[in-house]
Amino acid sequence: MGTKIFLSIRSIILFSLLFFSTLYGERIGVIGTGYVGLVLGAGLSELGHEIVCGDVCKEKIDALSEGKIPIYEPGLKEIVEKNVKEKRLSFTTDIAELVKTTDIIYIAVGTPSKENGEADISALESVADVIGTNINGFKTIVIKSTVPIGTTRYIENLIREKAPQSSFEIAFNPEFLREGHAVSDFFFPDRIVIGSEEETAKDRMEKVWEPLKEMGGVVFIKTDVASSEMIKYAANAFLATKISFINELSHLCEVVNANVLEVAKGIGLDKRIGEEFLKPGPGYGGSCFPKDTCALLYTAKSFGIDLKIIEATIRANAAQKKALSRKIRKLSPELKGKKISVLGLAFKADTDDIRSSPSIDLIEDLLKEGAEVTGYDPLAESHMRQLFPQITYAKNLKSALKGADLIIVMTESEEFANLDLFRTADLVNQQQIMDARNLFEPTLLQKAGFTYENMGRK
Ligand code: NAD
Repeated sequence: MGTKIFLSIRSIILFSLLFFSTLYGERIGVIGTGYVGLVLGAGLSELGHEIVCGDVCKEKIDALSEGKIPIYEPGLKEIVEKNVKEKRLSFTTDIAELVKTTDIIYIAVGTPSKENGEADISALESVADVIGTNINGFKTIVIKSTVPIGTTRYIENLIREKAPQSSFEIAFNPEFLREGHAVSDFFFPDRIVIGSEEETAKDRMEKVWEPLKEMGGVVFIKTDVASSEMIKYAANAFLATKISFINELSHLCEVVNANVLEVAKGIGLDKRIGEEFLKPGPGYGGSCFPKDTCALLYTAKSFGIDLKIIEATIRANAAQKKALSRKIRKLSPELKGKKISVLGLAFKADTDDIRSSPSIDLIEDLLKEGAEVTGYDPLAESHMRQLFPQITYAKNLKSALKGADLIIVMTESEEFANLDLFRTADLVNQQQIMDARNLFEPTLLQKAGFTYENMGRK
């Protein structure tokens, strides 16, 4: 169903772009071909630009050159294949050559957390070095990676130090994609933020995205660099706070016999609040919220500013993981030797990304207690195997459930939500479910004979 809708949306997009693409083609390099860079490169090529995606990771580039997509993202394979075939999209490990042969250079390398919470921008520094060494004419350099406030100016200075005679302009164009929806988010963004001190850079960026604007309705926010850098962190910190807020309320709901889902609906329909991100769960994870909240806090501290709400959000998220662990022990006080099925290993459904996934903390906890863990998540399994080679990985949902003493549902996957609880009851050894995503109606769980815990809906 989802795929069908996506494909028909796609044909409308393609039809419109066919016309506009002839008007706007630019030669663009994208440095860093991960979740963000690959979707960006493929999407921009679909808009009619000529794109070279570069990455230092040879295996990734080799795979892409052979038509294999190293990440799971619905719809991505199709646009990559099409644009490679039509020669608008290519891949390279030669970043120096990419710099020399493109006019606009996007940087989409990773900015992970250091131990102290600070964002590690060393990959950006090394990209600045390659750009500074190879710049050979006027370029527009655009940072896509999420970076601490002040980084765009810092990278500009690094390039200028390396190549004082060079001529370029720099901009920050934050990314707001959601993994699992990245391709449709690319074509239907809520807004496109462009931060630069150069009007020409803002105009050139707007031109790059012009085909989307022509299709109707994209809001451009053209602003200064610091504001654009701040927008990205503020957005992620706010969303993380919304999640922590509802997670905390879910605990109170339980003890006062309120249903957190009703509460979320009741407040979410207020336009000032909004319904999104009001679903309690096992705590937020992923490659963005944990690191971006910490990086924002670090930046604020370095300026002597206390961000008490963000601090509380991070603490509440850590507490949520502990709450999950307590609920599991309530269901099963003794975990040693118990067969536990963990459904969902990625940080959420429909992605293969396990970065900061709550399932990692959970599995560590279960193994420490001597439980026998079976994980099930077809998309994320291969990544999880590298972290936990010692656990069992089920080939399908049925074998994941067979003989289980406890089922723990960690992601909101449709496959799990559609689980037939009565058949499941026949498969398991003990009818116990920790429903960390509130997928199942408590009355149905009771009817099927399960004892259960959930997140705030008794
Ligand atoms: P990623 O780890 O999937 O990809 C980064 C890529 O950069 C990797 O393939 C890596 O090999 C490559 N790389 C590292 N150093 C390089 C160098 N010197 N030269 C060339 N390539 C290099 O990361 P991602 O998830 O795509 O995130 C990239 C940035 O975008 C981060 O700053 C992240 O915070 C931000 N972001 C991510 C998301 C998301 O959902 N993943 C959403 C919005 C913003």
